[in-house]
Amino acid sequence: MNNPKVRVRFAPSPTGPLHMGGVRTALFNYLFAKKHGGDFILRIEDTDQNRFVPGAEEYIADSLNWCGLSPVEDPARGGKYGPYRQSERKNLYRKYADQLVESGWAYIAFDTTEEIEQLRKDAEAKGETFSYGIGTRESLNNSLKLSQEEVQQKLDNNESYVIRFKMPKNLDVTENDIIRGSVTFNTTKSLDDKVLFKSDGMPTYHLANVVDDHLMEITHVIRGEEWLPSLPLHVLLYRAFGWDDTKPQFAHLPLILKPTGKGKLSKRDGDKMGFPVFPLEWKDPSTGEIFRGYREDGYFPEAFINLLALLGWNPGTEQEFFSLEELAEAFSLERVVKSGSRFDPEKAKWFNKHYFQQKTVSELSKLFKPVLSEKGILADDKKIEKVVSEIKERCEFVSDLWEQGSFFFAEPVTYDEQAVKKRWKAETPEQLSEINTLFEKVDDWTAASIKESFSAFMNEKGWNFGAIMNPLRLCLVGGNMGPDLFVICEILGKEETGSRINKGIKEIS
Ligand code: GLU
Repeated sequence: MNNPKVRVRFAPSPTGPLHMGGVRTALFNYLFAKKHGGDFILRIEDTDQNRFVPGAEEYIADSLNWCGLSPVEDPARGGKYGPYRQSERKNLYRKYADQLVESGWAYIAFDTTEEIEQLRKDAEAKGETFSYGIGTRESLNNSLKLSQEEVQQKLDNNESYVIRFKMPKNLDVTENDIIRGSVTFNTTKSLDDKVLFKSDGMPTYHLANVVDDHLMEITHVIRGEEWLPSLPLHVLLYRAFGWDDTKPQFAHLPLILKPTGKGKLSKRDGDKMGFPVFPLEWKDPSTGEIFRGYREDGYFPEAFINLLALLGWNPGTEQEFFSLEELAEAFSLERVVKSGSRFDPEKAKWFNKHYFQQKTVSELSKLFKPVLSEKGILADDKKIEKVVSEIKERCEFVSDLWEQGSFFFAEPVTYDEQAVKKRWKAETPEQLSEINTLFEKVDDWTAASIKESFSAFMNEKGWNFGAIMNPLRLCLVGGNMGPDLFVICEILGKEETGSRINKGIKEIS
C-alpha cells in the first residue's frame, strides 16, 4: 500500500475550557502534520449532550487561534470531510451501529438506568463491582438473552434501548503505539460491553470517534494517555467494521504532572499554586468562577507553545528555544517520552522572558500603551519608547513594564520609608534646593549634560555623591529603584523633575 497523505485530528469535547494538556495534544498533532506535509483537522466531539458547556467550543477555537495552530478543516472553515461537529453528523452513525448488530459484534440492550443502578448496588453490597459484559450480559435484558420476537415486540412498543459492543471473550488485543511500543489488553480481564449508541439517538464517543476517524481518513491518532484504555475497543471496532487495512496508527501522549511531580496537573492546581493551567481566561458559565489564562497573565503565544512542546518531547539536542516552524521541522513522535513530564512554572516565566527580550522596543511599546491608557495615562509614543528601552532588560512580562516604570508616568505618592530613614538627612532639603536651582539653569536637558553640570557642581561643593543622588532618586521615583538617575531626569523633563524635587522636599522633610 502506498503511504496516504498524513491526516491528523484534534478532537476535543466541548465540556469546558481546554486545559494546557489539551493544547499540547493539539500542538503535537499540528507539528506532526506540518512535519509530514499533512492536514491538521479540528473535530468537535459533542455527542454527550449532558456535558455540553456553552462557550466551550468558541474557547477551543480561540485558544488554537491564539497559539497559531490553525486547522485546515474545522467547523468554521468546513472541508470536504465535513461536517466537523459530531452533533451535525448525528444521522450517519446509526447505520454503523446497525451494521455491527447485524454482524454479531453488537447487540441491543433494554436495561433501564434504574435497573443497572440496582445491579451496581447489589454487587457493591457483596463487595463486588458490576460490569455489563462478558460475565453478566447473558442474563440481562438484551437481544442476546431475549428471543427475536421479544426483541421485536419491545422495539414495536418503542421501549428505549442502547446498542452495546459485544466484547469477545478472553482475547488478547495487541496494538503498536508509536510512543509506547506494543501494548496488549486482555478483553476478559479489563473490558466491559461499552455502549456504542445511546437511547437519545446519539452515538457514544467510541463509535463516533472511530467512524469519523475512518470517514475523515485519519492516518494517525495522537491523543492523551487517558485514552489508552479505550484503545483495545477502538482496535476491535476497526476489526469489526472490516477497516483494518486503513486503521490509523496510534500515539498516546504522556501526562503533564504537577510542579511537585506527583500526580496529573489538574484545573485547580493553577489557582492553588499561582500559575495558569488554561491558555485563555475562562469564566465558568454556571458558577461564574474565573480561571486565569496564559494570555491574560501576559504570556506570549510563542512562549506558551515553546514551553508546551518541551513537556514530553525533546529535540535530542541542547536547543531550548523553538519557533513554531522550527518545532515542526524538528518534531517527531519517536522523541516523545512515555513517562509524565513535570510542569515547572518558573521555567514558563523564563520562556516568556526570552520572547519578551526578543521583541523590539517599538513592539513592546505598542503592547505597553494600552496598559497605560487603562490607568488613564496618555503619554506620547516617543516617551513610551524611551521608557521601554530603559527598563526592558529588567522585565519578563508587559505588566512588569508598569511595575518597573510607573514613576515615569505618575509622580510618587508615597516614599519608601526604609530609604527615607537611611538617606534623608537634616541637610538634605537645603542641598536638594540648591540642586534644583542648578537644574533650572541647565539648557540642554539631556542625561549627559545634566550629569555634567551636576558633577561639576558637586565637585565645587565637595559634597558626597551618594548623599545627594539617593535622596534625589527618592524624590523622583519614590524609592531606590529604577535606571540611571540622569536618564530619569531627562525622560521626566526639566519641569517635572523640578516639581518632584520640590514635592519631595515638602513631603519627606
Ligand atoms: N473527544 C475526546 C476528548 O475529548 C477525543 C479523544 C481522542 O482523541 O480520541 O479528548
